[in-house]
Amino acid sequence: MSRGPSRLAADIDFNKDGKQTGFVRLPHSVHRSAYGWIPIPITCIKNGAGPKVLLVSGNHGDEYEGQVALMKLVRALEPKDIKGRIIILSAANFPAAIAGTRTSPIDDGNLNRSFPGDPNGTVTQQIAYYIETVLLPQAEYVLDLHSGGSSLMYIPSALARRFDDPAKTKRSIELLRAFGAPVAYLATSPQGEDRTLTSGAERCGVTHLGTELGGTGTVTPAALKVAEAGVRRVLGAVGALVNPPKEPPPPTRLMEVGGWDYFVYASDSGLFEPYVELGDEVTAGQPAGAIHFQDTPWREPTIVKFERAGTVICKRVPGRSERGDCLFHLGTDVKE
Ligand code: CA
Repeated sequence: MSRGPSRLAADIDFNKDGKQTGFVRLPHSVHRSAYGWIPIPITCIKNGAGPKVLLVSGNHGDEYEGQVALMKLVRALEPKDIKGRIIILSAANFPAAIAGTRTSPIDDGNLNRSFPGDPNGTVTQQIAYYIETVLLPQAEYVLDLHSGGSSLMYIPSALARRFDDPAKTKRSIELLRAFGAPVAYLATSPQGEDRTLTSGAERCGVTHLGTELGGTGTVTPAALKVAEAGVRRVLGAVGALVNPPKEPPPPTRLMEVGGWDYFVYASDSGLFEPYVELGDEVTAGQPAGAIHFQDTPWREPTIVKFERAGTVICKRVPGRSERGDCLFHLGTDVKE
C-alpha cells in the first residue's frame, strides 16, 4: 500500500562517491518559523561497490551510548577506509535527541513504535516513513543502536530477532558474535510488535542488528567501548571496511528473551526495593523485590516474583514505580 512519497528530503546525494554531511529536511511550519524545517543530521560515506549499511542511533533520544559512538564514527571514517556505502543517522528522532527524551517533545512520538510511519502523519510518523521508504530500501544491513535509556539499565547487549529460517538466524548470530558485547540475545517479540525499526527492516528484507548498550540516561566508558568496537567489528564482518579489526571479538554469552514470563512488572504503584542485581541467576517464583507504599508505610509491601528461571539482564532505574512499569527482564542461555 503506497501512501505517496515521503515529504522529507536529504540535501546530500546517496549515489555520489565521497563523504557528505548534511541534513534530512523535515518541513515544519510553526509559529516561530513559517517556512521552516527540522534538520536531522545525516552522513553518507561511499567508496565504489560494496555492502550498503545503515547505522542508526537516537531512535530513542535518551539513549546516548550509540549516539556518541556514531558521532565519533562520522568524524573518523573516510571514503578510503570503506568499501560500498555507509549512511549514518546518529539522531534519528532528532527532536527527542535534542531534548534528551525517549519520545519527541513535539508530538510525544516514540519513533520505535511508529513504523511504517505516515507521510502525512505527525513529525515522528513522518521520520519513520522516511526511514522505511527511503533509507531501508537502500540498505542491506541496518544496525540500530539502543540502550536502556532513562528508565532501564542493561548488561551491554546486542540483539537480533529469531527467524523461522534457521539460516537467517545463523547469520544473525554470526553478526551478534562479531559485535562482541558481553551478552547477545535472540528476541521473540512477546507483543507481536510490528511498529519497530526492526520490523521495518524485515519488511524491506534488510538484515537487522540491534543493541541494548547500557542505560540510566548516561554514558559510561565501558558501554561506549562496547558500542564503538562492536560497530567497527560488524562493519568489518559485512565487508564494509578496507582494514577490518584484526583482534577476535571478546566472547559473547548467547541468550534469548522469550515471552512475557521473562519480564517482571510492578503490580502496584510505590517505591521499589529490588532484591537482585544485573547478572544474578534467579529461579521461578523467587522474589524479585518489594513495592513499598509511601502513603501508608504501615502496610506490608507487595512482593513481586520472577515467573521463570533465568539471568537478570535488564533492570528498572528509578525507585518510584507505577503499576505496569517493567522492573526486570531475564535472558536464558541458548545452545547453538
Ligand atoms: Ca530503546
